[in-house]
Amino acid sequence: MKISIMGAGAMGSIYGGALSEKNEVWLVDVWEEHIEAIKSSGLKIRVGEEDKVYRLNATISAQEAGVSDLVIVFVKSVNTAEALQQNKALFGANTMVLTLQNGYGNAEDIMPYIKPENLFVGTTSGGATTLGPGHVFQARIGLTRIGVVKGGDFSRAGVIVDVLNESGFTSEASEDVLNAIWEKLLVNSGLNALLALLNARNAFIGESEQALELGKRLLKEGIAVAKAEGYDFSADEIARQYYIEGVKGSIGHNRCSMLQDVEKRRKTEVERINGAIAELGKKHGIPVPLNEAMALMIGAKEMLYNWE
Ligand code: NAD
Repeated sequence: MKISIMGAGAMGSIYGGALSEKNEVWLVDVWEEHIEAIKSSGLKIRVGEEDKVYRLNATISAQEAGVSDLVIVFVKSVNTAEALQQNKALFGANTMVLTLQNGYGNAEDIMPYIKPENLFVGTTSGGATTLGPGHVFQARIGLTRIGVVKGGDFSRAGVIVDVLNESGFTSEASEDVLNAIWEKLLVNSGLNALLALLNARNAFIGESEQALELGKRLLKEGIAVAKAEGYDFSADEIARQYYIEGVKGSIGHNRCSMLQDVEKRRKTEVERINGAIAELGKKHGIPVPLNEAMALMIGAKEMLYNWE
């Protein structure tokens, strides 16, 4: 299968690298140094202490990659709309497009460019960070869940699942993937901005009564919004599973992606996480002051990068 990865940073590289052993893979990214490094020395993926090197196609030009059978979108959610516009040369009439990104609204950004039956959405519990041009650290591979938006064609989700599993991923077609996407949005909404503002590793939320309380209050706002959208969650259950149990062990030692973005002075995904919940809350007449505050605080922090 010809597969293009739109946004070949940390996660795109992990998926692209593994898929390249059995497929024709193109990494498409605007980060020129990264693409040049991959073209000259291959893509290096560090697992534990070892680097594995993958030789695969890499380009900054969607035209060069051309129409693909499958496109996996892995830009940050704040860049999805722009990336789709720039990389539409990857899409033909039958190109399947899969987003495994975090944040709300990625599917909506993709919809104008493809037929509804070609759109697939999902979640990944994998984790990765970029170490430098052409070099990525794979923290974990995890489970990939793939499904469709309302009215989509679920029957072909299995095609993508098979391609991923042939390349060593653990993935499954999931009829309730929209629920999983909402759950991930909620988990991130109570954790990421808070830990980025506190400059704290993941484990902190399970150990600080105050941080946990704030996380739960953020969750409660988001859960009220999710309910208005047709999804049902429990704040206590999410907090227990992800903020207390889930951060025990090595994941607790990690810095969440928003904290890493703030440390590296990059634009964060806050407007697609807390910002999106705040927008939806207003639409449904649900009070969302803490989510608004998180979006404003992180937004202000982003402005600080270039202020002094
Ligand atoms: P990243 O910043 O490492 O990679 C994003 C890449 O997109 C960058 O290399 C950037 O140059 C590229 N890009 C930006 N604009 C582009 C454009 N117009 N065309 C092509 N490429 C473009 O981000 P990441 O950590 O890999 O995360 C990607 C998505 O996956 C995010 O939504 C994130 O929340 C989600 N996610 C990340 C992890 C993780 O552990 N890193 C885990 C699960 C989900």
